[in-house]
Amino acid sequence: MRTRRKFGRHFTIPASTANLNIVDRVPEPLNALVGMEIPDLRELLAGEPGYRAQQVYDALYGRRVTSVDEIRVLPAPLRSRLRDAAPLGLPGQDSVFLSADGTRRYLLRLADGKTVEAVFMPEEARDTLCISTQVGCPVDCRFCLTALMGLERNLTAGEIVGQVLHLARANHLWADARRINIVMMGMGEPLLNLPNVLKAVRILTASRGLGISPRRITVSTSGIIPKIAEMGQAEVRPRLAISLNASTEEQRRELMPITRKYHLNDLMAACRAYPLRTWEKLSFEYVLLRGVNDTDADARRLVRLLANINCKVNLIALNPGPGIQFETPDPDRVASFQAIVRKSAPCFLRKPRGRDIYAACGQLKRMTEEPPLVAIGG
Ligand code: SAH
Ligand code: SF4
Repeated sequence: MRTRRKFGRHFTIPASTANLNIVDRVPEPLNALVGMEIPDLRELLAGEPGYRAQQVYDALYGRRVTSVDEIRVLPAPLRSRLRDAAPLGLPGQDSVFLSADGTRRYLLRLADGKTVEAVFMPEEARDTLCISTQVGCPVDCRFCLTALMGLERNLTAGEIVGQVLHLARANHLWADARRINIVMMGMGEPLLNLPNVLKAVRILTASRGLGISPRRITVSTSGIIPKIAEMGQAEVRPRLAISLNASTEEQRRELMPITRKYHLNDLMAACRAYPLRTWEKLSFEYVLLRGVNDTDADARRLVRLLANINCKVNLIALNPGPGIQFETPDPDRVASFQAIVRKSAPCFLRKPRGRDIYAACGQLKRMTEEPPLVAIGG
């Protein structure tokens, strides 16, 4: 490790990335500019006039510069000191995979060499970015490929924002930013990385940040009960989706062993207590597994669980993957399930996007051998 003193504060910069691979379940602060808010920038720029922090913030998020050299509003000596003190921190692009349906799966490289996946899904009325919040995931849901990776580490706020910056730039989305829709449904359990997720959301939504409405950002959780309550108290917060995936305690324990710690009844109580805003509904995600949780009786139990909650339901037919022991239900089973739930709450069937490139829900995992794909760039 070496430390550099540049702007009145010590920054620890890993001397070699090799160290990080051993000890980084909790990452070193990487000091990247992307991910900093005004107070961070003030601290970094201590000794400089106060307005400099805002100038850098506007350049990072308002103009979305790709190098410190582009921050022309700063005098050259300050730019050069800034460049030495902190990297910009945008992710690198290892590869992109293009699906027949237009979905693009990006493998992005972080400062410590770890990689993370993010998915771009163009739709008629909007462009959805599915981004990751952790490298891997510590929650061991039985139907999810990411679970097989375990947790490598949390992402920083800058690494979360960086995925949005990268995908939006690569797909020319800033031309009409109102179409951007963000779902934190990639790798990881967002509520186990809540401070960084909320910091990222503040930057994504700030009017001088990326200016994306919190109504267009959704965080999805496997049901980390204390963190659901905590998120409800945050001043700036996205929409919340709960991955329910089962209609009884016993069934949920089988599919999502985290239920042993956070019981289904308590989860539903936390949902009922969640402070929804006037414009907001809680979302419930339900992955349908053939012969496991897809019967009409399950649908009716689900309806009872959701009673008195202002919500909508998204059904997802299982996306298969190597090592996943479950099967996708037949379309008529899915239709019957949906018809029952729909009588009580809006209930949608999520179209699988990018299944052919392993980009669909629950399929994000670094492949030792990538499927045969059209790779573009990288
Ligand atoms: N960890 C968070 C967010 C990432 S998972 C969560 O679990 O909510 C995003 C969604 O993908 C969740 O709703 C999850 O239930 C779903 N999912 C996981 N594996 C899947 C699979 N194989 N097929 C379809 N959906 C899956
Ligand atoms: Fe983690 Fe979500 Fe996958 Fe469960 S479904 S293992 S919480 S990413």
